[in-house]
Amino acid sequence: MTRWPARIVIVGGGTAGWLAAIMLGDSAKRAGQTTAITVIESSRIGTIGVGEGTTAVFRQMLRHFGIDEAAFLSETGATIKYGIRHRDWRRLGHSYDGPIDDPHLVAGGAPLDTYAVAAGRPVTQAHLFQHLLDARRAPFAVRDGRDVPAGPFHHAYHFDQARAGAFLKRHAKGVTLIDDQVAGVEKGEAGIAALLLEGGQRVEGDFFLDCTGFRRALVREMGAQWQSYGDMLPVNRAMPFWVDIKDGEEIDPCTLAWAQKSGWMWWIPTQGRYGAGYVYSDAHTTPDQARAEIEAALGHAIHPRNDIRIDAGRLRDAWLGNCVAVGLASSFLEPLEATSIHGTVVQLMLLASWMTDGDGPAKYNATVARQVDDFRDFIRLHYVSERRDSPFWRDVAASHPQVVRDRLAQWQTKMPGREDFAPFPLDLAHVQEQLYTPVLDGLGLLNRDVARAAMAAAPAARDRARATHAALVAEYSRAAARCTPHRQWLTSLHKETAA
Ligand SMILES: Cc1cc2nc3c(=O)[nH]c(=O)nc-3n(C[C@H](O)[C@H](O)[C@H](O)COP(=O)(O)OP(=O)(O)OC[C@H]3O[C@@H](n4cnc5c(N)ncnc54)[C@H](O)[C@@H]3O)c2cc1C
Repeated sequence: MTRWPARIVIVGGGTAGWLAAIMLGDSAKRAGQTTAITVIESSRIGTIGVGEGTTAVFRQMLRHFGIDEAAFLSETGATIKYGIRHRDWRRLGHSYDGPIDDPHLVAGGAPLDTYAVAAGRPVTQAHLFQHLLDARRAPFAVRDGRDVPAGPFHHAYHFDQARAGAFLKRHAKGVTLIDDQVAGVEKGEAGIAALLLEGGQRVEGDFFLDCTGFRRALVREMGAQWQSYGDMLPVNRAMPFWVDIKDGEEIDPCTLAWAQKSGWMWWIPTQGRYGAGYVYSDAHTTPDQARAEIEAALGHAIHPRNDIRIDAGRLRDAWLGNCVAVGLASSFLEPLEATSIHGTVVQLMLLASWMTDGDGPAKYNATVARQVDDFRDFIRLHYVSERRDSPFWRDVAASHPQVVRDRLAQWQTKMPGREDFAPFPLDLAHVQEQLYTPVLDGLGLLNRDVARAAMAAAPAARDRARATHAALVAEYSRAAARCTPHRQWLTSLHKETAA
């Protein structure tokens, strides 16, 4: 394909479908190409409908499209996310945070993590987001009546998927929308020639995106194969529920991932309520027992909204002929590190970059496979725990995959570094040492003797790291103290956008 396809048809109006409409429409325009975009969504089927946490790429994406952050937050009821608080993962009563900013970007090459581990301090102390998270502050301070950013890093969000989807839909310009259900796929030489809708309409296209969630309505017809991660990831079922946020209650700017007896619970604050859920192994507990366990942990009744079976995995090839699956149609992992929407945004960037590249499909499939496999390995590492207090944790401890054991063995002999990770295509955001190190440190899996030896062997670097570390900790604790309380700042955005 030397030019962008003239007609792109996106099936699915969830977060993935509308992200695809916005991102591909914009990329085609920037490439000087004329592409007509049609979205087919079915109001009868609905979207997945759970509270979501994003990563920083979502904010970068909003900025790229000139979408106002204040409007996004106030219209969707979203909140700020600096990272993930992991409770009871290492052992009961222990907690650690995974802030998503990377202080090495401003450290001028100083080995901050090695210094911190050698000194017996948590590596997250030098993260601005750790200070903002602890102080429950917004990422802005008010100076002369204006919001001044606390630092140079991109934060993430928590939002209600349905409201974020509706917001994105309002911002997708020049898209033809059809509310109907795809009932059949007409094949042609390139792959799909047309879609047959329940209402009788036939929709032709040159390129198709399958954003139909777990239904995989198009790629299923194309013979796509699923690679299950069931043998590597220990949970396979999710019980989502909502909990109201009390008026005036401060909102934690982090996702809580709270380990339980047979899995873990997510707890995601939006402005109006918590989107929460228990992700568990049904080989170790029943839905009734899971519900009782969560009610006991929270001290009140819950009302499960769904019973979702998780077949963790990915398509072997997400790009087949003239059809690409994106979002839940392409892959799904438990939401422990908010990899799904992040993965979707990155995949759409790859697709836009390689749309007219003859090797595009092969490069795309290899890169997406690697991306999701890397997410899987990172998520699995979180389960390396000292806990043995339930059959689930005992089984997990006895079954760490080889890839995780190899990584851990490697990091017993050296501190994690960028050299341990192959470069990611187009330099796009990916799980690398900046995300691994806080988790490894939080789980007690880094070797202090190795860090000490590295510092002893490089006294000039140690002195630089010590000075930079002290300067960052001081600067970030001052910055956090100056910033506006999180909820107060979110409330002020409503007044601003209403004014
Ligand atoms: C329990 C759980 C928790 C999650 N937590 C997070 C998180 O914290 N962070 C994160 O990044 N991600 C999370 N995710 C993943 C996230 O929900 C999805 O990546 C995101 O919502 C995109 O979903 P989607 O658009 O692919 O699918 P859906 O939201 O399921 O949308 C599918 C769309 O396809 C349409 N459709 C289906 N079949 C047809 C058909 N035949 N014809 C026409 N239209 C059709 C539907 O109408 C709908 O519009 C979570 C997922 C689950 C299950």
